[in-house]
Amino acid sequence: MELFQHTISQRVVLSGEGVVSGEEIRVELCPAPPNHGLLFERADLDPPVSILLSPKTVAATEGTSFVHKDGQRILFVEHLLAALNGLAIDNLVIRVHGPEIPLFDGSAKVFVEALLSAGRRPQWSLRRYLRLHEEIAVSDGVGRVVLRPSTELKISCTIEFPHPAIGRQTISLSVCQEKFLSELSFARTFGFLDQILAKRRSGEFRGGSLENAIILDHEKVLNPDGLRSPDEFVRHKALDLLGDLYLLGFPILAEVEAVRSSHKLHVQALQTLFTREFAWAWYPSPGRLPIRQVWAPSFAA
Ligand SMILES: [Zn+2]
Repeated sequence: MELFQHTISQRVVLSGEGVVSGEEIRVELCPAPPNHGLLFERADLDPPVSILLSPKTVAATEGTSFVHKDGQRILFVEHLLAALNGLAIDNLVIRVHGPEIPLFDGSAKVFVEALLSAGRRPQWSLRRYLRLHEEIAVSDGVGRVVLRPSTELKISCTIEFPHPAIGRQTISLSVCQEKFLSELSFARTFGFLDQILAKRRSGEFRGGSLENAIILDHEKVLNPDGLRSPDEFVRHKALDLLGDLYLLGFPILAEVEAVRSSHKLHVQALQTLFTREFAWAWYPSPGRLPIRQVWAPSFAA
């Protein structure tokens, strides 16, 4: 477990098609100083709009998690955040030249490669871990998310789709960098052809193709190369959960159980957590006493 904060050694620039806008969107990942946190910026606007992660600036739809401020949004932040959570990167400025982050191949692979090519750089400030003192549970009638006190991050995800290629799948793991890279980072998002065509017809999606996701018809996977693992679907759900947990802007240590969950439910769990003042505290690392006075950028916004 990382004791110290990390940023990246140099700026790295990515570019890809936005699935909603259908336009080419540039994303710059820039190093930031210790205790800075993760700052998103809508760099295409004049003046640019900066969005620091906080319970007030994060939200979700059925299909994506997003950050927002002053009526401006950046959609599809979850796979980049999963890469940042998985690689334990704390401080970064994320300049996005458009209203969404490109999906690339639908997994965290492109973000992981970019971050590793830029190089992780340790910073001599302690990380702050959020630890729970009591259980938090939310449900929407279909799915549920339960966060339980723990000294490490363990996630367990279950999905259930009445589809011959998916069905019921479960994955449980203790999250560390190695496991994130080998078990989750490659898993692509997935969608159903009829729903995607409907979104194309209504104008909700102007981009998107078999290059950005696993696409299924009523019976099978349509991508010519098939799946990257037989249970790629639930691995992607775990990747989404890991990304959504980093909407906190800080690492959380908890046992997280997500059953038939959604981005909306993940965000609801985090926002519920923040309404319970005595349910959690900041810790420098497991086994140490909680931090009483801490400069927490998440609460400054
Ligand atoms: Zn996803």
